[in-house]
Amino acid sequence: MFLLLRDLRRARRDAALPRGPRGALQLRHVDAGSCNGCEHELGAASGPAYDLSRFGISITASPRHADVLLVTGPVTGGMRVALERAYEAMSEPRLVAALGDCALGCGPFRRSPEAAGRLEDVLPVDVRIAGCPPSPDAIAAGLIPLLDRRAGAG
Ligand code: SF4
Repeated sequence: MFLLLRDLRRARRDAALPRGPRGALQLRHVDAGSCNGCEHELGAASGPAYDLSRFGISITASPRHADVLLVTGPVTGGMRVALERAYEAMSEPRLVAALGDCALGCGPFRRSPEAAGRLEDVLPVDVRIAGCPPSPDAIAAGLIPLLDRRAGAG
């Protein structure tokens, strides 16, 4: 019974997601100064309930293997160079995703002296996933269309 309910919930969630993804997508996640709320939701999106790997989306440890640089948090002064180096290490075509309101506009840290700015001020951003933090559904809905975009570029 429990399994049936879980499968039903998953089927409902999947029905609301964008259709027709192809190929696979490797994400290199960089925490540029997050409070870890966005990482919590990213972990949930990768876990068994949402399971982004079903769509061919997984997280890689190296930017050299990554298709997408997925950034959380406001860009702090201490992380700016590390972020730029991760981007430079990626091969073309490469995409950048801003995950959460902090990456989009510094969120609650906008007046912090540690915040160097929005992700957009440092790197070209291809996809914006809003929320504080974004839900696993929002993360999936933001990332899945990149499969088609990536397939089109390849
Ligand atoms: S968007 Fe919200 S949850 Fe994510 S890092 Fe910023 S404050 Fe934390």
